[in-house]
Amino acid sequence: MAQEKHYFTNSDSPLKNLSPEIIQSIIETYKEGTLVGQIRRDFDLKLTPSFYKDLPYSITDENCDLCASAVYEKPKRVSNSKNYSLHKICANCKHDFTDSCSCDTCVEVRAVEKKKKETEFKDAWVEYLEANYSNSYQLEELTLYDEINLAIIATKVDLDNPKEYLSFLHTPSRSYNRYYQHHSKKEYQFPDSIQSFAKQLINKEIIIPSIHSTSNVLLSSIDDDFVINVELKDRYHWEFNVYNKGTKLTPNSYLDYFFNDRKIKTSEKIILWRDIYKTLLADYVANQLENVLKNDIENYTIETITDLMIDDFSLSKAFFLIYCTARNTVFYENKYKANQQKVNTFFLNNITDLFNRHNKDKTAQDFNLPHAIQLSYYHQFIIHNVLDFNKTNYFYLSSDKLFPTDHLPEYPLSKEPLPEESSKEEPVKDIPSDVIYHDNDDDCPF
Ligand SMILES: [Zn+2]
Ligand SMILES: [Zn+2]
Repeated sequence: MAQEKHYFTNSDSPLKNLSPEIIQSIIETYKEGTLVGQIRRDFDLKLTPSFYKDLPYSITDENCDLCASAVYEKPKRVSNSKNYSLHKICANCKHDFTDSCSCDTCVEVRAVEKKKKETEFKDAWVEYLEANYSNSYQLEELTLYDEINLAIIATKVDLDNPKEYLSFLHTPSRSYNRYYQHHSKKEYQFPDSIQSFAKQLINKEIIIPSIHSTSNVLLSSIDDDFVINVELKDRYHWEFNVYNKGTKLTPNSYLDYFFNDRKIKTSEKIILWRDIYKTLLADYVANQLENVLKNDIENYTIETITDLMIDDFSLSKAFFLIYCTARNTVFYENKYKANQQKVNTFFLNNITDLFNRHNKDKTAQDFNLPHAIQLSYYHQFIIHNVLDFNKTNYFYLSSDKLFPTDHLPEYPLSKEPLPEESSKEEPVKDIPSDVIYHDNDDDCPF
C-alpha cells in the first residue's frame, strides 16, 4: 500500500480534502513566515480554532526507530518569523521522538526504568539503614521522658489509618489569595508542636527512618549514586526502634501499652508535677517582674522556692506569695540599688517569711491563673494524659491532695468548694495588711 503523503492528527482539518500539491504549497508558505490570516485568505480556508492543529505532517525518508514505519514531520514556527523547528511523529505507533512521548512503547520503557530505579533505591536504602541504625531499644530501656515523648508523637499519627510508620504529612496553611490557591502543596515535616520531641527521639535513635520511605518521598534528598542526604530528614517516613518482648512496636501498639499497661507510679507523677509546678512559678515570676525589676530572678531561686512551697501550697496560693514578694522585691531593689545577688537573696528571704506565716495561719489567698500564662503542649499532655488531673482543679490543690498516699482514704476532689471566679480574671489586687513587707511605711506600697 502506498504511503499517504500527509498525516493529519486533526481529522476535521479543512486541509484534508485538498490535493497533496496544494497542501504542500500551504506548508511551504507557512514555513516562509506568511501570517496565518493571510494563508487562510490566499487558500480560501475555513476559519478554525487552530491553524497549526489543522496543518498535517508530511512524509519523510526516515523510518521509525520503534516500528520501522514512515516518519512524518511538520514545522512549528517560532513566533511570526521564518524560523521554525520540526516536529516528528510515526503515523503507525505515534512515537513522537521526545522524552515525554506517550506512545505505548515509551510509556512501557519508562515504567520499567522507574521500577528498576525504585529497586536500586530500596537496596541502597536498606544498606544505609543497616549501616546507620543497627542498634535498637527494649521498652524497659526507655526513660519516663522518652516514653512520654513517644506517646506525644504516636498520638499525632492518624489512628484511623494505622500504618507501620509515622509520616508527619503536613499541609501548609492555605493562602486565600486566589493566585496562590493552587500552590498549596503537602510537605513532609514535623508539626511545630512536636518538633522538639521528635528531634530528641531521632537523636537518641528511638525513632528511626522507616524502611517504608520511598524514593518518591526522598527524591530531592538522594543524588544519582543514591547517597542519602541526611540534612533532609524531615522528608523521611519514620518508625519506632523499640521492641517489647521481641515484637517491634508500632505507634498503635505503643499507645495501647502506654495508656493501658504502663502504670505510672506516684513517685514518677510527683517528678513530672514538680516540673510543671516550677515552670508555672517561673512563668508567673516573669509575668510579674519582667521589664519591672532591673536584675533577674535566677533559676536557682525558682528551684528553691519550688521546693519550699510544692508540698504545702497549691499553685494558686504560691502565686499569691509570688505576687506579694515581687512587689516587695521591686521596692527593695529601688531603695537599695541592690545587685543581682542581693535581689535574689531578698526575694528568697521574703517569700520564706511569707510562706512560714501563711502556712501556719492558713491565711494565703487563692489567686487565679492569669490568661497570659499558658501551659506548653508538652505540659498539657502530661496533665491530661499522664497525671489525669481535672482540667483546672489542679491549680487550686496542693500536692498531698493531688497525690493522696495509699494510707489515707482517697481525697474526694469535689469536697472543697472552689472560688467561683472565672480563671480568666486577673489576680486579686487587695493584699491584706499582714502580708505587707514593712520597711518604710511612706515609700513601700505594702
Ligand atoms: Zn513507529
Ligand atoms: Zn514513543
